[in-house]
Amino acid sequence: MLDWLIIGGGIHGTHLAHVLINQCGVSAAAVRILDPHARLLQAWSKRAENTGMRYLRSTRVHHIDINSRSLERFGQEKQPYDSNLWIDPYYRPSLEIFKEHCQHVIDTYQLQDLHTHGQALALHRVRNGWRVDTDSAKLKTRKVLLATGRQKPFIPDWADPLIKQNAPIQHVLDMTFDMQHVSNEAQVMVIGGGISAGQIALKLMSGHSVTLVTRHPLRQLDFDSSPCWLGPACMDSFEEAQYPRRRWMLGEARHPGTLAQDVYKDIHTAIEAGEMLLHQGEVVNANMTNDNRVSLTMVDGSIVTVDYVVLATGLQAVQPKHTWLADTIKRYNLPLADCGYPILDEKLRWAKGLYATGSLAELELGPAAANIAGARAAGRRWYERE
Ligand SMILES: Cc1cc2nc3c(=O)[nH]c(=O)nc-3n(C[C@H](O)[C@H](O)[C@H](O)COP(=O)(O)OP(=O)(O)OC[C@H]3O[C@@H](n4cnc5c(N)ncnc54)[C@H](O)[C@@H]3O)c2cc1C
Repeated sequence: MLDWLIIGGGIHGTHLAHVLINQCGVSAAAVRILDPHARLLQAWSKRAENTGMRYLRSTRVHHIDINSRSLERFGQEKQPYDSNLWIDPYYRPSLEIFKEHCQHVIDTYQLQDLHTHGQALALHRVRNGWRVDTDSAKLKTRKVLLATGRQKPFIPDWADPLIKQNAPIQHVLDMTFDMQHVSNEAQVMVIGGGISAGQIALKLMSGHSVTLVTRHPLRQLDFDSSPCWLGPACMDSFEEAQYPRRRWMLGEARHPGTLAQDVYKDIHTAIEAGEMLLHQGEVVNANMTNDNRVSLTMVDGSIVTVDYVVLATGLQAVQPKHTWLADTIKRYNLPLADCGYPILDEKLRWAKGLYATGSLAELELGPAAANIAGARAAGRRWYERE
């Protein structure tokens, strides 16, 4: 029997496996990471590459290693004179150095050896632990960590039927997104006002004519929630609050639909140079034309027809009772707050031997729960709060 089965080999699952083994003293032989992809971090890397992201939004202290200065040191040793590795303000790492550092940590600590290929489909209590039924095996473990992240791209209602008809529409965070499908010189509409929309609009600009459609004016903000949520300044009052109040605080603290400074500036420059169009409005309806284009009706009644639509509308927050965990929640009466999210204890335990991180732990870890900082905060719950 394993000691720990971590379900999900993304940033959270990989970092927390590293913490368990190299910080909490759990034997590597007794830990496995279950993930359906060929490599750890594959889902995250693919989505980050899809967007054309050049720099992370988070800073150099947020990465998958344990020592917070590890990424900075790695960058300095590897390419000491390359100033493109980081961007001000806050010394944010380039995607390139971040990914190289992830691989360095995975190789150094042989984390890839922990990877078990598969998708968890069901969880059952057994004597002394849990049995995780996957698409190909039944795995027994004393403890389970749910590190499944958010996986479902948010598809607006008007786009759903068109996608089913194979209309020229893709979501940039879909694992199958492929820019090669957007032919050269195509007129492309990018839908969304957040950083992924900004990044993919900039990437598509070379070779395509791009219109960015946002519901609100472009908004610049360094982070998607204030850094005060990474420490006691904000987290103390969060931890003291009741769950309905915590849910309200999460809503107030997060700033989706905002752009980091570099992306904001590049978009403004492109718009001023006439290389990109900005349309403030909302799509309310869409149809496919006879020549396989997409005709979109905007909220002001105007109609715009384009060759291709790229959705950059984020990943959907799905309550766990609407996922593969539904039966487990019901069978073992796992506690949920009114908002449908797990009630965990301060060690992130949902039930005996069952733990969660990422957005599943947001009522415990706060607004940055799903971010890289959230993975690090989860790790600290295990080794700092003994
Ligand atoms: C494009 C992009 C850029 C981002 N940039 C930043 C940034 O700069 N800074 C920051 O802090 N945050 C950033 N984020 C947010 C966040 O850090 C990432 O989403 C991060 O990947 C979350 O890690 P995770 O491990 O929870 O989820 P994921 O990386 O999505 O990993 C979860 C894994 O679990 C697997 N899984 C899901 N269900 C099952 C199951 N039933 N069985 C087995 N495996 C399963 C998935 O296949 C996936 O491989 C970004 C997000 C995106 C999409």
